[in-house]
Amino acid sequence: MGDGLSVQAEYGLGDWIHEPLEDLDPDQIVFWDGLKDHVFKLCRCTACGTWYWPLTLCRNHGGVPEPGQMEWAPSSGRGTIFARVIVHQVTDPQFAGEVPYGLIVVELEEGPLFVCRMITKGDPYDARIGDEVEVVYCDSDQAGHTLPLFAPVREWN
Ligand SMILES: [Zn+2]
Repeated sequence: MGDGLSVQAEYGLGDWIHEPLEDLDPDQIVFWDGLKDHVFKLCRCTACGTWYWPLTLCRNHGGVPEPGQMEWAPSSGRGTIFARVIVHQVTDPQFAGEVPYGLIVVELEEGPLFVCRMITKGDPYDARIGDEVEVVYCDSDQAGHTLPLFAPVREWN
């Protein structure tokens, strides 16, 4: 999975996948560059191994940052649904063909929480807390970016 056009067609997504990403946090560029290579990077503390997203300092060392303490590293790109909302009203015409759709908070296997768009070929209302989800890399050649969308590991129907 990954090619933008096929992901778009497969999940019935609108052309919003090609909207340029604006005002990206310079601290997060490594994350976005990783997505282009279909690698889901998180920050890891080199001292204790705790994972974070987004980039921050590790909270396990008395509030004293150490130089080079945090590193970006590939993660599993998998997790479980921690929370979800189903959007059923059209507030932006770009999404008119997609309602209802899910917005979820994923509890990643490594620990951090990640807010994202859920995609599914099934009924988004079937998504339950604790269901396993994984990243789907949605490439936009025209925009030059890759979006991290999350789909159920096992479709609901
Ligand atoms: Zn640490």
